[in-house]
Amino acid sequence: MKQRYDELINILNRLSYEYYTLDKPSVSDQEYDRYMQELLKIEEERPELIRDDSPSMRVGGTVLDEFQKVTHEIPMLSLGNVFNEDELIKFDDRIKKEVNNPKYVCELKIDGLSVSLIYEKGKLVRAATRGNGVVGEDITNNVKTIKSIPLSLKEKIDIEVRGEIYMSKKIFNKLNEERALNHLDLFQNPRNAAAGSIRQLDSSIVAKRKLDAFLYHLPEASKYGIYSHYDALKFMKKLGFVVNKNIKKVENIKEVIEYIDYWTEKREELEYDIDGIVIKLDDLNMQQKLGFTAKYPKWATAYKFPAKEVLTKLKDIIFTVGRTGQVTPNAVLEPVKVCGSTIKRATLHNEDNIVNKGFMIGDIVSIRKAGDVIPEVVAPIIERRDGTEKEFKMIENCPICGTKLIRKEEEADYFCPNQECEARKIEGLIHYVSREAMNIDGLGERIIEDFYNMGYIKKIPDIYKLDQKKEELMELEGFGSKSINNLLDSINNSKNNSLERLLFALGIRQVGSKTAKILAKRFGNLNNLMNADYDELNQIHDIGSIIAQSIVDYFKDSENIDVINELIRIGVNTDYLGKVDVEIQKENITGKTFVLTGTLENYTRDNLKKILEDMGANVSGSVSKKTNVVIAGESPGSKYDKAVDLGIEIWDEERLLNELNN
Ligand code: NAD
Repeated sequence: MKQRYDELINILNRLSYEYYTLDKPSVSDQEYDRYMQELLKIEEERPELIRDDSPSMRVGGTVLDEFQKVTHEIPMLSLGNVFNEDELIKFDDRIKKEVNNPKYVCELKIDGLSVSLIYEKGKLVRAATRGNGVVGEDITNNVKTIKSIPLSLKEKIDIEVRGEIYMSKKIFNKLNEERALNHLDLFQNPRNAAAGSIRQLDSSIVAKRKLDAFLYHLPEASKYGIYSHYDALKFMKKLGFVVNKNIKKVENIKEVIEYIDYWTEKREELEYDIDGIVIKLDDLNMQQKLGFTAKYPKWATAYKFPAKEVLTKLKDIIFTVGRTGQVTPNAVLEPVKVCGSTIKRATLHNEDNIVNKGFMIGDIVSIRKAGDVIPEVVAPIIERRDGTEKEFKMIENCPICGTKLIRKEEEADYFCPNQECEARKIEGLIHYVSREAMNIDGLGERIIEDFYNMGYIKKIPDIYKLDQKKEELMELEGFGSKSINNLLDSINNSKNNSLERLLFALGIRQVGSKTAKILAKRFGNLNNLMNADYDELNQIHDIGSIIAQSIVDYFKDSENIDVINELIRIGVNTDYLGKVDVEIQKENITGKTFVLTGTLENYTRDNLKKILEDMGANVSGSVSKKTNVVIAGESPGSKYDKAVDLGIEIWDEERLLNELNN
């Protein structure tokens, strides 16, 4: 254990140097935090091992020689961390040992760098970085370029305030775009960009970086007759400082959790990055009583958001063939948990993406997933290579039928040109029945594949002929008369879908669900669309030349026309029915307000939200008296508890499925 302990100290010190001094971290914050948690665990179990130079004992930053050094009369400390609700409740329990009925102030944890500002007679005289907490760097000239930091205050007082300098996401993206054009290294995130900018020796460069600041701490509040943190913030605002408008005073830990839940969902909408929520005891006398450790105050903590980016191994790259024949490389990953779901596979999009990002098979790669978004393989971690990684090579032939692949000049993707390629056909059928397309329940991917292989469904119109095979299908394992009847009903119902669903379902290249809707609205029925020529299509706003050409090519193909004619004969609707007609009314769903919590097996949140909204329901982010139903998946959060408290109806996934299929 001693060996691992020393090793961890070396790793953490190296990472801190890269992060604080070079502004160039080589690992994600979550990976740093994991090393730190491991170190803290060892220190808890074996306190005799603790070294004076342990990163757990000091504030992480260093001080550059290029700047004048300044000593902070009151040390600038870091914050303790909690990573989940349990740890947060333990924090509250510790506070409650000293304080009766503690009130908290919840703040967004701005991902920037902290700054101390000293004003004399209302004039800014010194600005300094946190540095190692005791000694920081004098950055007064640079800070004077930040428009949101007042140079003079509304009152002529002597005061020190502290807060966070940050760069907005918009400025960050613009800065990186410019740097890319000038072939300069890109900043990894707004925090590094802000830290790198504030330590420029030339203030005119800093001015161009358009940094911003929020102020959140008044170290000597009692001097001004202030005894609550919330009042201190109000006072700072009155003096002319920018205080974040989302700060909230709450009554208890339950409300802290609600604040966390709210911002966990909403954080992407902010114009700046936050990496957590800071929870501070409001009563300043009590703060003083609780005091500090060497590294952080005992009266506050930072809740860190769950990892949006984690590292795992890229075990292999395999290829799949889609319904249009498009061949996609996919990452096979060592299973890893991100945002509550386990990721084993993720698309790598195309050859150019792999080559440009330099992925090698065997690499440690970073994976990102925000909420319900498809996981993204972000980049290889070059410094983790050990020489066993293998070069990636694009395949030349279709992995299913062996036909030579083609790549059109203006496109990034390879295609299998063989119309008869089995993979294309199966994917085409899967797409046709999918929820956003014809929405046929009961025909999952596996069943389509089986029915294809058993010869029941070889092309789209065969789906509508399954009723002729009803008896045979009922003999199959896993199918009872009820499920077959449901399936046949669902197939029959799909005949009444509005045109946009059919258009999307047909799998015309380049025609996604949004384009399908534009086309359906514009042409009103399939026949009109089939008669439109390239120019007519190309003139439509939102339809470019590539889409127009693809539509024309699709309707030129006699096989496609055969399919369409057969569908019309079968009675599939080809008219646009407008929004109202596609809505399905359900007694327990339409008009009701739902809140979703926890992980569901069959739906992502976005997906379910859309389904419910399509049925005329309202989906809200938080539970209140107005909520009709809370749908609770696995590991539901505080919304579940609130629903129980308020006596709101709760559905589990089984009930949900029943209601949807009702
Ligand atoms: P921290 O970032 O976890 O928290 C303390 C800091 O939060 C404060 O100093 C302050 O600057 C900031 N803050 C933002 N909003 C605030 C608010 N409303 N109220 C109070 N403070 C607020 O601690 P730290 O010591 O600055 O840095 C440690 C963290 O930095 C690690 O947990 C890790 O996430 C990251 N780090 C990453 C690497 C890496 O290699 N990727 C290396 C070192 C550190």
